[in-house]
Amino acid sequence: VNARAAAQSHSKVGKYLLFETLGQGAFGKVKLGIHEDTGKTYAVKMMQKSQIRAHEMTNQVRREIAVMKAMRHKNIVNLYEVLMSPKHIYMIMDLVEGGELYDELMRRGPFDENEARVYFKQLTEGMLYCHARGVFHRDLKFDNLLLDKDGVIKIGDFGLVSIKGAGSATELLHTQVGTPHYTAPEIITRASDGYDGVKVDVWSSGIILYGLVAGSLPFMDEDIQVLYNSIVNKGVECPPEFSPGLVDLLENMFRKDPSKRYSFSDVKRHVWYGESEGDSEGEP
Ligand code: ADP
Ligand code: MG
Repeated sequence: VNARAAAQSHSKVGKYLLFETLGQGAFGKVKLGIHEDTGKTYAVKMMQKSQIRAHEMTNQVRREIAVMKAMRHKNIVNLYEVLMSPKHIYMIMDLVEGGELYDELMRRGPFDENEARVYFKQLTEGMLYCHARGVFHRDLKFDNLLLDKDGVIKIGDFGLVSIKGAGSATELLHTQVGTPHYTAPEIITRASDGYDGVKVDVWSSGIILYGLVAGSLPFMDEDIQVLYNSIVNKGVECPPEFSPGLVDLLENMFRKDPSKRYSFSDVKRHVWYGESEGDSEGEP
């Protein structure tokens, strides 16, 4: 990277020159970073140590970072490095430049089922890759789905549980801005000590799929107790325009009992998942 770029940068972390803020997260800012030797661009997530769990490189933190760095998939935001200064943790990630899926949904949505399926398949592929490696997301929601320049989904905010906390529940405790609309019932009822990370992610992916096609979320209420009560006790009512195949898939993703709920492998085998554009119109 040239001297002009270096002159414009405000600060530096490791070999990365930091530029403008790309977004504000719950724990800190995300900035544009340029590697001073290669000139490659990255997104650098800065988190204040005071706001997160890990204040130092414990073995647990080291292990999680190693797992996250080893993961490479076209539908996840790849993590390259984690750097620490006395007050901050910096996560060096893929720079994703197509904005948030949510904004696309607001601009062009709700999507028809074929369009929604394209995004949903990308989400599913990314999740299958992670679940196969024992990594769960635990905080899937529209905010964490970014689009690259080609409009392909990149799932962000993955892993690093020991740095960030255990997901939305902890995020809620820390910041009171986390969104509970995607929370699986077993987390609310604390039905068991540990929960199945796969099934928690499938539940929130069901919320996202519903949202893509309906343009709104299945569980909504201003009052969090009412919201939680619906998640735990009420079935999801799909709008009448949803196809029977989609309704059936969602019912299986929204089973209250996690042991009866689909995994992503089950999702992939469902008939709606396998349908392709044109099938529903009866075209050749
Ligand atoms: P938090 O989970 O703390 O809310 P996020 O990781 O979601 O923080 O980041 C906050 C915002 O920063 C996102 O909504 C997005 O606009 C931007 N952002 C995050 N990661 C990237 C990235 N890899 N590339 C580009 N922008 C990003
Ligand atoms: Mg986020």
